Amino acid sequence: MSVKQKIIEKHERKKIAIEEIAELFKKAENASQVMADRCVLKAQKMAQRANIRLTREFKRKYCKHCNSHIKTGTSARIRTRNGMLIIYCYKCKKFTKQALKEKLQNKR
Ligand SMILES: [Zn+2]
Repeated sequence: MSVKQKIIEKHERKKIAIEEIAELFKKAENASQVMADRCVLKAQKMAQRANIRLTREFKRKYCKHCNSHIKTGTSARIRTRNGMLIIYCYKCKKFTKQALKEKLQNKR
Protein backbone atom coordinates (compact mmCIF):
# COMPACT_ATOMS: atom_id res chain seq x y z
CA MET A 1 0.00 0.00 0.00
CA SER A 2 1.36 3.42 -0.90
CA VAL A 3 1.74 6.21 1.61
CA LYS A 4 -0.97 8.20 -0.11
CA GLN A 5 -3.42 5.35 0.14
CA LYS A 6 -2.60 4.91 3.80
CA ILE A 7 -3.36 8.56 4.50
CA ILE A 8 -6.64 8.34 2.61
CA GLU A 9 -7.57 5.22 4.55
CA LYS A 10 -6.76 6.93 7.83
CA HIS A 11 -8.98 9.87 6.93
CA GLU A 12 -11.74 7.50 5.88
CA ARG A 13 -11.54 5.65 9.18
CA LYS A 14 -11.73 8.90 11.12
CA LYS A 15 -14.71 10.03 9.11
CA ILE A 16 -16.51 6.77 9.80
CA ALA A 17 -15.68 7.01 13.51
CA ILE A 18 -17.05 10.57 13.71
CA GLU A 19 -20.26 9.44 12.03
CA GLU A 20 -20.60 6.54 14.42
CA ILE A 21 -20.02 8.78 17.41
CA ALA A 22 -22.67 11.21 16.17
CA GLU A 23 -25.00 8.25 15.77
CA LEU A 24 -24.28 7.09 19.33
CA PHE A 25 -25.04 10.49 20.80
CA LYS A 26 -28.24 10.67 18.79
CA LYS A 27 -29.23 7.30 20.20
CA ALA A 28 -28.37 8.42 23.72
CA GLU A 29 -30.74 11.34 23.31
CA ASN A 30 -33.78 9.07 23.27
CA ALA A 31 -32.46 6.28 25.48
CA SER A 32 -32.78 5.79 29.21
CA GLN A 33 -30.07 7.26 31.45
CA VAL A 34 -28.29 3.92 31.84
CA MET A 35 -28.27 3.25 28.11
CA ALA A 36 -27.24 6.84 27.36
CA ASP A 37 -24.28 6.55 29.74
CA ARG A 38 -23.23 3.41 27.97
CA CYS A 39 -23.44 5.18 24.63
CA VAL A 40 -21.16 7.94 25.95
CA LEU A 41 -18.57 5.40 27.07
CA LYS A 42 -18.72 3.66 23.72
CA ALA A 43 -18.29 6.95 21.88
CA GLN A 44 -15.29 7.88 24.01
CA LYS A 45 -13.63 4.55 23.35
CA MET A 46 -14.30 4.91 19.66
CA ALA A 47 -12.77 8.37 19.61
CA GLN A 48 -9.72 7.10 21.46
CA ARG A 49 -9.25 4.22 19.06
CA ALA A 50 -9.62 6.42 15.98
CA ASN A 51 -7.39 9.04 17.60
CA ILE A 52 -9.90 11.84 17.28
CA ARG A 53 -11.05 14.45 19.70
CA LEU A 54 -14.68 14.76 20.55
CA THR A 55 -15.94 18.10 19.32
CA ARG A 56 -17.40 20.67 21.67
CA GLU A 57 -20.92 19.77 20.60
CA PHE A 58 -20.36 16.25 21.88
CA LYS A 59 -18.50 17.35 24.98
CA ARG A 60 -21.51 19.38 25.95
CA LYS A 61 -23.55 16.19 26.03
CA TYR A 62 -21.75 14.37 28.78
CA CYS A 63 -20.25 15.13 32.17
CA LYS A 64 -16.46 15.03 32.11
CA HIS A 65 -16.33 14.06 35.79
CA CYS A 66 -18.58 11.01 35.81
CA ASN A 67 -19.11 10.47 32.06
CA SER A 68 -22.84 10.41 32.42
CA HIS A 69 -24.94 11.62 29.54
CA ILE A 70 -26.40 15.06 30.04
CA LYS A 71 -30.04 15.62 29.41
CA THR A 72 -31.04 19.17 30.10
CA GLY A 73 -33.56 19.30 32.89
CA THR A 74 -33.40 15.67 33.96
CA SER A 75 -29.73 14.88 34.62
CA ALA A 76 -28.14 18.31 34.52
CA ARG A 77 -28.77 22.01 34.70
CA ILE A 78 -27.28 24.22 32.01
CA ARG A 79 -26.82 27.94 32.47
CA THR A 80 -24.87 30.61 30.66
CA ARG A 81 -22.85 33.22 32.50
CA ASN A 82 -20.33 35.72 31.10
CA GLY A 83 -20.16 33.86 27.82
CA MET A 84 -19.51 30.62 29.66
CA LEU A 85 -21.67 27.57 29.56
CA ILE A 86 -22.05 26.16 33.05
CA ILE A 87 -23.23 22.58 33.30
CA TYR A 88 -24.18 21.30 36.71
CA CYS A 89 -24.34 17.53 36.85
CA TYR A 90 -26.96 16.13 39.22
CA LYS A 91 -25.20 12.78 39.44
CA CYS A 92 -21.76 13.81 40.72
CA LYS A 93 -22.82 17.35 41.72
CA LYS A 94 -19.95 18.99 39.92
CA PHE A 95 -19.75 21.91 37.56
CA THR A 96 -18.33 21.89 34.08
CA LYS A 97 -17.45 25.17 32.47
CA GLN A 98 -17.22 25.63 28.77
CA ALA A 99 -16.56 28.75 26.72
CA LEU A 100 -19.37 29.54 24.35
CA LYS A 101 -17.17 31.47 21.92
CA GLU A 102 -13.88 29.63 22.04
CA LYS A 103 -12.62 30.83 18.68
CA LEU A 104 -13.00 34.50 19.48
CA GLN A 105 -11.07 34.17 22.72
CA ASN A 106 -8.21 32.42 21.04
CA LYS A 107 -7.73 35.27 18.58
CA ARG A 108 -6.93 37.80 21.30
ZN1 LIG B 1 -21.20 14.19 36.52
